[in-house]
Amino acid sequence: MQTALLLLAGTGITIASAYQLSAARLRATPLGRSHVISSASAAPADAVSFKSAGLCKKLTVPSELLDKTDVFIFDCDGVIWKGDSLIDGVPKVLAELRKLGKTVFFVTNNSTKSRKGYLGKFKSLGLEDTKAEEIFSSSFAAAAYLEQTKFKETGKKVYIIGEVGIEEELDLIGVPWIGGGADAGKKIELKSGYALPHDKDVGAVIVGFDREINYHKIQYAQLCINENPGCEFIATNLDAVTHLTDAQEWAGNGAMAGAIKGCTGREPTLVGKPSPLMIDYIVSKYGCQRDRICMVGDRLDTDILFGQNNGLLSCLTLSGVTTESKLLSPENEIKPDYYVDSIAQFL
Ligand SMILES: [Mg+2]
Repeated sequence: MQTALLLLAGTGITIASAYQLSAARLRATPLGRSHVISSASAAPADAVSFKSAGLCKKLTVPSELLDKTDVFIFDCDGVIWKGDSLIDGVPKVLAELRKLGKTVFFVTNNSTKSRKGYLGKFKSLGLEDTKAEEIFSSSFAAAAYLEQTKFKETGKKVYIIGEVGIEEELDLIGVPWIGGGADAGKKIELKSGYALPHDKDVGAVIVGFDREINYHKIQYAQLCINENPGCEFIATNLDAVTHLTDAQEWAGNGAMAGAIKGCTGREPTLVGKPSPLMIDYIVSKYGCQRDRICMVGDRLDTDILFGQNNGLLSCLTLSGVTTESKLLSPENEIKPDYYVDSIAQFL
């Protein structure tokens, strides 16, 4: 509870008020299908094209970007670090941006850690100046969404497919949960007449990245969503692939959420990028001017689209998953305002 409350202390803005705006936007999305944002892998019909969007200019004079930006929102994987290795030049850039009076935030779709867990990672990589309130993980976004929708008042509990990050964030807001790590390794033994019992008080299933996903968890989530009236299906993100190591791409939470979509026929409420929830929260809480915020990321279909769909400046870094040839190819319609080899070029 402390971290969530600390984040809000003194601002006069609650998670609820920031997220009410987002919930309304989600319902109003032209993508339709109730309150759902579609998969991150496909650009929505209203994605901004090269002609109407950014300059897609390689940044050679840093002041061009720095002069028009008050707030930098950094994706983490592929921007700040790759796996467990810090990208060259990052500490110096962050220190310099802070010295120039810029506000920095870190937004990650990875739900395996809570904000507290991420703070530990930042510090272990030598980024000692990072504060918990600068970090927005999709595990936190899931908890903030439950706050906004007053889930706690229903007296229901959450079933988690996911790792400790979601568990810790739900503990902070006092929402009871089952599943998660406790269901790792569980097996279903099929015998005649057997039915898996499930808790009728589960009012939401949160699906985040889970290296211990198994058939028990999938069946449990299916029963909750299909049989408990009003049970919500929330996905921390729908990323197709993720970086577990820097040696290859690994199947992301699109796989876990896809399993539950497949057996329920339901689309999830998405709380991570590219849904507007986190950016609306930041804009409301800090009173930022959208066109003076720059989203910096390594992925076109989440980070850059997230920036463009929310009226932000955008900058792609080639230090992650996107190559310059992919960025500049005629098939790619998602163009950032600027791009850099790595954020070290901000100096
Ligand atoms: Mg990334």
